[in-house]
Amino acid sequence: IVPMRLQRFLARSGVASRRGSEDLMTAGRVTVNGEVVTQLGSKVDPARDVVAVDGVRVSLNERPTYLMLYKPAGYLTTMSDPQGRPCVEELVPTDRYPGLYPVGRLDKDTTGLLLFTTDGDMGQRLLHPSMHVEKTYLALVDGRMSDVQLNPLRRGIMLDDGPCQPARCRILDGREALVVAPDGIPHGTTAVEVIIREGRKNQVKRMLGKIHHPVLRLHRSRFGPLELTDIQPGSWRLLTDQEVQKLT
Ligand code: URA
Repeated sequence: IVPMRLQRFLARSGVASRRGSEDLMTAGRVTVNGEVVTQLGSKVDPARDVVAVDGVRVSLNERPTYLMLYKPAGYLTTMSDPQGRPCVEELVPTDRYPGLYPVGRLDKDTTGLLLFTTDGDMGQRLLHPSMHVEKTYLALVDGRMSDVQLNPLRRGIMLDDGPCQPARCRILDGREALVVAPDGIPHGTTAVEVIIREGRKNQVKRMLGKIHHPVLRLHRSRFGPLELTDIQPGSWRLLTDQEVQKLT
């Protein structure tokens, strides 16, 4: 094995994200062969060097874990909440796969596909705007809408924090609308599919709010090459080898 940067080694070991690993190093908590290493460019030979964080030896995860959660409504996308509110950590097997963390975020009331991994590099890679990972959202909005009303989103709508990139979007027919609109939804709503590559805070809700159709429900059905399939709300499944290949 060739030498690799220490922060990459730490991230690949599931200790922290790449950024978090750099923080551990600069805080003097990382040793290589017993010596504290704070220099960010330092390299290690994974086959020979002994790396420890706070005195505990860490080693490369041979195979990082990737799983998808069907996030139900009512859970925060965080691994712990100081106020004790329900969070996604309770729904994924962190004891079996230490270092698991969510890639990106869904709002508390948003349902659907949330990717988790122990691969500390991956989150940064996939979330970087230059990666252009497409996310598909199904939104149930207040009020009846027609296709032309989506044009501002297609052109790239201006939000408080700047213009959005042009979004692909369409009105969904009744059958697809059932995905986001189970029985009991009042009349005068429209199901809309919105595909974005960015991931700004509350972005889809703000985009549709801006064209005067507030979002009543929001569901993510796709994250890049991953589709939310073979899974029930509140449960998770490991990605297949094929899915992992498409992601990495
Ligand atoms: N856009 C939102 O507004 N909320 C989400 O949870 C995801 C995308």
